[in-house]
Amino acid sequence: TVKAYSADQPTSPGVENLVIIGSGPAGYTAAIYAGRANLKPVMFEGYQIGGVPGGQLMTTTEVENFPGFPEGITGPDLMDRMRSQAERWGAELFQEDVEFVDVNTSPFTVQSSDRIVKCNSIIVATGATAKRLKLPREDEFWSRGISACAICDGASPIFKGQVLAVVGGGDTATEEAIYLTKYARHVHLLVRRDQLKASRAMQDRVFDNPNITVHYNTETVDVVSNSKGQMSGVLTKRLDTGVESVLEVKGLFYGIGHSPNSQLLEGQVKLDDTGYILVEEGTAKTSTEGVFVAGDVQDHEWRQAITAAGSGCIAALSVERYLVTNN
Ligand code: FAD
Repeated sequence: TVKAYSADQPTSPGVENLVIIGSGPAGYTAAIYAGRANLKPVMFEGYQIGGVPGGQLMTTTEVENFPGFPEGITGPDLMDRMRSQAERWGAELFQEDVEFVDVNTSPFTVQSSDRIVKCNSIIVATGATAKRLKLPREDEFWSRGISACAICDGASPIFKGQVLAVVGGGDTATEEAIYLTKYARHVHLLVRRDQLKASRAMQDRVFDNPNITVHYNTETVDVVSNSKGQMSGVLTKRLDTGVESVLEVKGLFYGIGHSPNSQLLEGQVKLDDTGYILVEEGTAKTSTEGVFVAGDVQDHEWRQAITAAGSGCIAALSVERYLVTNN
């Protein structure tokens, strides 16, 4: 392969084997596999989340369910290790956001603020962003009482055995509420509308669960804390009466969905109606040949580090096969 050309060498005609966009578990795993296959992948790590590479896990503390770390590992530590492993196998990493992609003409074009790279294949691993309520004290309590992932945090000591709240009325929120009842003493489901939006089956599971109380017409206004600065409740407002009150809970889980970071590929590969990149079932292939996808940007169901990493592996192995048969 020939090196990518950069802003100070604009005339270089290089075409890379593979560009990976995104530096979460999916992107780094793809980079490790592609590096080991000698593809010399170029990765745009991005810095959208928290201004650093590493993706969503950079915003969390302990990760207790990634295999191989029986004592747990912090999110940033885990991502640091994945990054080093990708570098060790020859991935070239740029801490830049990709601003433009053209996959209509081959070789493909990937452009960041600093460079344009031509390439024969792309793995999109741009992840998803948990939707936030933008409560006034949200940043203060993010990962210290507020979470967007019941599976990740439900069993954590700060939530175990406590009374918790979940915001939302759809399938995500109802699933989170049901899941949390395994560990929590009681779960309050805070729903803005006067009914649940979740599927009938999920609604029935909620109504049948004596450890869940549903609060309709209820807006979540803010988090309240005790004198030690710990989260002690949620300030809510009844939308039908305007009455505000504090619900005493030790944790607040957001179940209001995720936004897949797929804007770059809009109109160039097929997306589903919520913006997730569509994959050919059981593969990492998008609707455009040579463009592969991995991780949360194609997965509205599982959204775990290990599933993202697994799909990054599949995407890299698929690229390897694709390049052999197409070049
Ligand atoms: P992400 O981690 O979302 O990474 C995507 C990357 O793409 C980011 O680096 C982003 O900056 C980059 N990017 C986006 N757009 C561009 C662009 N245009 N150009 C370049 N780069 C771009 N899962 C677990 O298994 N265990 C846990 O304990 C756990 N805890 C969590 C705690 C929190 C607070 C959150 C939010 C999630 C947690 N998860 C956990 C879920 C897990 O983090 C995700 O499933 C996983 O990170 C998805 O990996 P990904 O590689 O698909 O994408």
